[in-house]
Amino acid sequence: MKPTVDVISLGGTIAMKGKNTTFGVVPTLTAEDLVEAVPQLSEIAKIRTHSPFNVPSAHLTFGDIFTVADEIKRLAAEGSTGIVLTQGTDTIEETAYALDLLLDLDIPIVVTGAMRNPTRPGADGPANLLGAVLVASHPSARSLGSLVVFNDEIHAARYVRKTHTSNVSTFRSDPAGPIGWLAEDQVRIAQKVDRLPLARSGIFDQDIRVGIVKLGLGDDGTMIDAAVAAGYRGLVIEALGGGHTSISAASALDRATVDIPVVLASRTGAGETLTNTYGFEGSEIDLLAKGLIPAGRLDGCRARVLLTILLFCGEVNKEQLVEEFLNHGTH
Ligand code: GLU
Repeated sequence: MKPTVDVISLGGTIAMKGKNTTFGVVPTLTAEDLVEAVPQLSEIAKIRTHSPFNVPSAHLTFGDIFTVADEIKRLAAEGSTGIVLTQGTDTIEETAYALDLLLDLDIPIVVTGAMRNPTRPGADGPANLLGAVLVASHPSARSLGSLVVFNDEIHAARYVRKTHTSNVSTFRSDPAGPIGWLAEDQVRIAQKVDRLPLARSGIFDQDIRVGIVKLGLGDDGTMIDAAVAAGYRGLVIEALGGGHTSISAASALDRATVDIPVVLASRTGAGETLTNTYGFEGSEIDLLAKGLIPAGRLDGCRARVLLTILLFCGEVNKEQLVEEFLNHGTH
């Protein structure tokens, strides 16, 4: 019997066409349109299509992702073999990571999109959709958490990052590399990752806002004070190097941690936040002593997704946050 794959389309470049020659492309195509453009899909699986949103991925909200997560749970309970989610690449890493945290399912959850819209020569959407459906139908892609399939590579949601504004090979998983690949329509899984869903569940408060502040040379800490004053309930800092700040920013962070949880991530885009190397004011040792929570290997945007969902789930104390970040930031 053929597998059943549910293709859920949220919009993005893969679904974009021009309104006319003056304006740029906007989300237009539905999941049904995307599937119709790749006739081979019906040979691989019985495809069911769903188009809950049709937006650029910059317009997606956490609420939209929770809606999608609930829909995926429902489809899984109805016997879906695997899920393919198509959306804009700008926030794929956040959606895929959020689903990795929210869904405790064995079926493959595969996110894909396109860098070249359907009006461009060499549009990559159809090939990415084909690859995603092949992975979503494949038994070896089960129990790996959510995945991003792009450009014939299979990435774990917890590692993958968009690294280029326009290149079709934009998605990278440094330093682990993709966990697999596609070759002549064959799915190859080279390394397994354990699923790591959040133990917490139930979203109680979607009005909580978590800010993210990237620090630079000579930062005076104003943005950090402003974020607290503006009512953000949590803050992620993309600090310099292994987790370092100016003296002024360190003072602002000292004030901030009195009121809200503050997570220390690195702006470098790779490696783990340090914990016990540097001793200067504004060093990682100083900032952790001030009460910041180390993000480990989670980059700023992933740390913001984790902190946001944890805060949405209800009361959580500092020790529990440290434990969650230790768990998710080291796997
Ligand atoms: N480059 C993005 C994409 O590939 C822009 C649009 C979006 O993220 O929705 O889809």
